[in-house]
Amino acid sequence: MVSGDDDVSRRPLKVYFIAHPSPGHIAPLTKIAQLFAARGEHVTILTTPANVHFHEKSIDKGKTSGYHVNIHAVKFPSKEVGLPDGIENFSHASDNETAAKIWAGFSMLQTEMEQYMEQNPPDCIVADMFNRWTSDFAIKLGIPRIVFNVYCIFTRCLEEAIRSPDSPHLKLNSDNEQFIIPGLPDPITITRAQLPDGAFSVVKEQVSEAELKSFGMVINGFSELETEYIEYYKNIMGRKRIWHVGPLQLIYQNDDPKVQRSQKTAVVSDNELVSWLDSKKPDSVIYISFGSAIRFSNKQLYEIACGLEASGYPFLWALLWVPEDDDDVGNKWLPDFEERIKRENKGIIFRGWAPQMLILNHPAIGGFMTHCGWNAVVEALSFGVPTITLPVFSEQFYTERLISQVLKTGVEVGAEKWTYAFDAGKYPVSREKIATAVKKILDCGEEAEGMRKRAREMKEKAQKSVEEGGSSYNNLTAMIEDLKEFRANNGKVA
Ligand code: UDP
Repeated sequence: MVSGDDDVSRRPLKVYFIAHPSPGHIAPLTKIAQLFAARGEHVTILTTPANVHFHEKSIDKGKTSGYHVNIHAVKFPSKEVGLPDGIENFSHASDNETAAKIWAGFSMLQTEMEQYMEQNPPDCIVADMFNRWTSDFAIKLGIPRIVFNVYCIFTRCLEEAIRSPDSPHLKLNSDNEQFIIPGLPDPITITRAQLPDGAFSVVKEQVSEAELKSFGMVINGFSELETEYIEYYKNIMGRKRIWHVGPLQLIYQNDDPKVQRSQKTAVVSDNELVSWLDSKKPDSVIYISFGSAIRFSNKQLYEIACGLEASGYPFLWALLWVPEDDDDVGNKWLPDFEERIKRENKGIIFRGWAPQMLILNHPAIGGFMTHCGWNAVVEALSFGVPTITLPVFSEQFYTERLISQVLKTGVEVGAEKWTYAFDAGKYPVSREKIATAVKKILDCGEEAEGMRKRAREMKEKAQKSVEEGGSSYNNLTAMIEDLKEFRANNGKVA
């Protein structure tokens, strides 16, 4: 309950949102901003000019008319970091060097964003986990910072357990030996080769330190998905405020996928796509997408293509990125493959952005091959679709364990080694492994049916959580109340 002066508690909160410049980070944070606006709070999104349209396309315009949602762009230091104008989002990058420059440019925005916020002080900052500076800045202003944690709490638990100086991986003889991560609610196994590399882990340590200085954490997901791990995390980290407010994709399902795809060439219209899916049996089609950041080598793409064809099941493949003809496999196989798939009506290959929500929501979709990006996983669970997991970098191997070892709603393809997104496919997963995993999910066997049943139970929980009175709905209420209490009591909260 909000105490203190009534006028203060009724006044809308003034909340600033700062994302990390990548589609998988911007879309959910923008949707959280919309949730605040929908409750009458005043929202400003701080970003850079070339990222404005990424925020705008994530806003469900039908649901925001009359709301207070502003976007304020500060200049991106393109010249200073040596980038051409307009390259301000990781989806614009195809190599590590460009990505590093985008990262450096974003770090340089701190001063200008701080100045803007000092001149127009907010009641709260909701900032992506990678905007670490916002924790100290919020303390300086005497306001709360909420961390937008783009993954789940299960992943945070694993990250903290692995950081322990006693973690068994430090004593293994081989990178490929499985070990049990100690102390967790379940005996989760992983190998050292699947853990993030040193430089990435250092950044994540800094993220964790900034998180501990923040007021609380907001997550795209629903608490029923990881109840035990939320309690575990609260205990080990001494945290009180973790708010799961999603699946955001279920709340904002009307985002127009055509808007998302307008930048690239749509291969089929939505109507053609739906008619194609309507012509297939329930649970018989596999959907493949590796999100917006991963750049697989030609060799890996070729293995995936051969594996899909060998499985014999129809498929939809969102093939966002094909590298230059630069390895011994090259990409000359692709036009033939595309032509054959089309001629034999085996599938559809999207050379660009696919309407993922529309696809996952169709009853013909029986499985989703994913890199385990957190948005993709939440979307699969929201629609009760079992997953085939092929993680590459970041937290993706941890999320794979949530799926295969805790929720048991999917199978691992068998990726063995963590690599950066732009080096993906350096250790290719074979076509045999791809075909085996696809068959395992689509063969209607007992194991597959078990996964499908559990995925559908998750779908029910996900859908209930976002209804009025559901856990995510109530978490949003609690988060806003806590922020208003903080403001009304000048920083003192229970
Ligand atoms: N997405 C989509 N169509 C595509 C590829 C991706 O709609 O062809 C969306 C997908 O629904 C998800 C987001 O882009 O919401 C990707 O986020 P995720 O966390 O899965 O992966 P990331 O891109 O951050 O690695």
